[in-house]
Amino acid sequence: MTDVVAAFEAAKGFMPLDEGLALHDAAKEAALLGLPLLEVGTYCGRSTILLADAARNAGTVAVTVDHHRGSEEQQPGWEYHDTSLVDPEVGLMDTLPTFRRTLHAAGLEEYVIAVVGRSPQVAKVWRQPLGLVFIDGGHTDAHASGDYEGWAPLVAEGGLLLIHDVFPDPEDGGQAPYRVYRRALDSGVFEEVSATRSLRVLRRVPGVFTA
Ligand code: SAH
Ligand code: MG
Repeated sequence: MTDVVAAFEAAKGFMPLDEGLALHDAAKEAALLGLPLLEVGTYCGRSTILLADAARNAGTVAVTVDHHRGSEEQQPGWEYHDTSLVDPEVGLMDTLPTFRRTLHAAGLEEYVIAVVGRSPQVAKVWRQPLGLVFIDGGHTDAHASGDYEGWAPLVAEGGLLLIHDVFPDPEDGGQAPYRVYRRALDSGVFEEVSATRSLRVLRRVPGVFTA
């Protein structure tokens, strides 16, 4: 456990420790379903470490999806840009090498399937029900709703849907993840389990089906 937290804290990324611990707790619980745990938005693997550890302990696997070219706000000239993550040959962001180093350093490579691709395209070819879906990808309405529409129907009954960067007050941040969170609750398919800073944990209510 301390190793996992140390690896998480050493990894490049945006998630603070309290949210990480809440993500880890949710992942450990969901992993008991014995189904894969899936993340949208790998970036450099900071949150992936926590899903991978939970998967390892339960004998399942973590799947993490990213095109590895960065979100809008991570592009050159934007607030969250990191110049060390640009591929000099191609001239575009490439977080895949850093992600691989993160997982290697944490000793968790064999518990993770990394999918390089666009979230809605991957969702379209994915059939397996999931114990947990963690949405932490693009923050535009198109991206957030695409992630929700693609992946929420794949959460198994009793499984968890987690959404990051949920800010009820527009003063605190963009509203797309919040709108997706509201949509999940209003559908009646998901109920809230917990909130830690901007991380929301929802459970798919057994016996209620997606429209
Ligand atoms: N979970 C990470 C942070 C993710 S940042 C952590 O805790 O550190 C958001 C990531 O989503 C970026 O790496 C970006 O490339 C990816 N992303 C944005 N839109 C996407 C899309 N439509 N499909 C796949 N990945 C996407
Ligand atoms: Mg986030």
